[in-house]
Amino acid sequence: MFNNFPFQFNFPSQGVECAFCLPNGQVIKVRFSSDQKKIYMQRQKRRFMLKQNILVLANQIHNANSIAQINTIAKMNNICDCCDYSGLHMDAAKYSLVAILESMNRFSELRSKMCFLGSDTAFAKLIADLERGDVTVLQKFGLDSILPSNEVQKITQLIKSNNASGEVNDNIAYAVAGGGLFDGIMLREKSFNNSSLFRTLINLSGGCKSGFSPTGCSSIKSIVDHEVGHLIDFSRGISSKKEFISYHGSLTSSDIRSGLSEYACHSIVEFFAEGYSEYCNNAYPREISKKIYSFIK
Ligand SMILES: [Zn+2]
Repeated sequence: MFNNFPFQFNFPSQGVECAFCLPNGQVIKVRFSSDQKKIYMQRQKRRFMLKQNILVLANQIHNANSIAQINTIAKMNNICDCCDYSGLHMDAAKYSLVAILESMNRFSELRSKMCFLGSDTAFAKLIADLERGDVTVLQKFGLDSILPSNEVQKITQLIKSNNASGEVNDNIAYAVAGGGLFDGIMLREKSFNNSSLFRTLINLSGGCKSGFSPTGCSSIKSIVDHEVGHLIDFSRGISSKKEFISYHGSLTSSDIRSGLSEYACHSIVEFFAEGYSEYCNNAYPREISKKIYSFIK
């Protein structure tokens, strides 16, 4: 329900030709100059630094009067490279950004994954603009000195072919693993705009009661935390670690369903993200979520 991983991006330690590996096994190669590669490698190591007290900043976000103001606060505080919550209910934008801020303050390396935060439609528009040759999009993502301009089209095709632009998808939120170039978290406009937010919250509350979602996970924050969980997993490779696979394997589907959520049965990746979300949102996190969280440290 919540996420897709459009592509993995691998830079070999030697050489400047990197490979985008798609889930279907297809590989697209892109050539970088050695300087571009150097800047890209630095981009991967970025860490989040708070510029002011976190409560003051969270308050500033909650007191914003417009989406434009929320986007600006995100940018000014270096929460992400490009922020565009256009189309969303202001509360969706505010709670989303504050949730991301809280997790990123705990796990500062997440900053390298926060290239884009916002709505799926805003992201789709940016990618479409880029495809048409609008280089200001690269500036917005801080990629103008990284991406070879003759390869940009290849990359936008790649994003589109993997449905990361959020045009046709039933998910309500997405974590995008875009090789450190276009990673981020986006909310679906159709589910979080002014006319749909209330209905979405009712659905989430129903999903929580039925056990589809973990205990405590019926808020915008919990949805975003689930996506943050994917990015933590993606950056630390937790769900592919032996110990984690073995813990996951020690539980039956019924254990997972009753001790975490129905959705967590979907895959080991969702199991991790659901556990992270419950740990952050249930006042009394249950055993499975506590155990899952312990793998982060
Ligand atoms: Zn997910």
